[in-house]
Amino acid sequence: MDKQRRVLLKLSGEALAGEKKTGFDEETVRAVAAQVKKSVEEGVQVAIVIGGGNFWRGRSSKAIDRVKADQIGMLATVMNCIYVSSLFTYLGMETEVFSAFTIGGVTRLFSKDEADAALNAGKVVFFAGGTGHPYFSTDTGVVLRAIEMEADEILLAKAIDGVYDSDPKVNPDAKKFDTITIEDVVEKRLQVIDLAASILCLENRMPMAVFGLEGEDSIYQAMKGNITGTRVTV
Ligand code: UDP
Repeated sequence: MDKQRRVLLKLSGEALAGEKKTGFDEETVRAVAAQVKKSVEEGVQVAIVIGGGNFWRGRSSKAIDRVKADQIGMLATVMNCIYVSSLFTYLGMETEVFSAFTIGGVTRLFSKDEADAALNAGKVVFFAGGTGHPYFSTDTGVVLRAIEMEADEILLAKAIDGVYDSDPKVNPDAKKFDTITIEDVVEKRLQVIDLAASILCLENRMPMAVFGLEGEDSIYQAMKGNITGTRVTV
């Protein structure tokens, strides 16, 4: 049998919140679940990293210590993974949540071997807690896990449908790239993922695909390698 395609899907926290922009929106997560289920049934190995912005960001408060604020942010990503993985289980998928730090019996501590075994068994794997360190983001978390797990590609499902040379909300003449190199993303400081994460991608030659979460079956298509947004090549 051919080697199975392995992808790391990144969902922002807000993507789970739907119109409300905060907390969870079950309909939105169900729509994602249906597409992931179809992909896994067709043999794609799927790991997922979720942001935390629907609850909290490290930058949310100037009054408290940044390290503490970032810890709250990392815990927000854990809550998101517990919610989404539980809904996926309810909808008939097998799931496993690995976190970057120990949280008692709530999640398993990340181990490459155990995550590998889960993916090979057809489970949808969630990587919670970002990198486990403050001053990082889940963007860095997704790149780190993609490299560690030897993923074929990172899939970034975003509110915007690709990478543009300027913000299309501000500039009506903004141009969307079909492909762009990771070197250009870094040099031009394009807002694909944050700079630390982009450099990690560049150094480790990890390709990405950016596409709109809203598009019909967009996650399923991306899982199969059909990208209508932008490919970030290495
Ligand atoms: N966070 C962190 N370390 C990580 C990942 C996340 O400290 O490795 C914290 C940080 O405070 C961040 C929050 O968790 O603001 C939510 O993560 P996300 O990547 O969604 O944040 P964003 O990039 O939107 O700030």
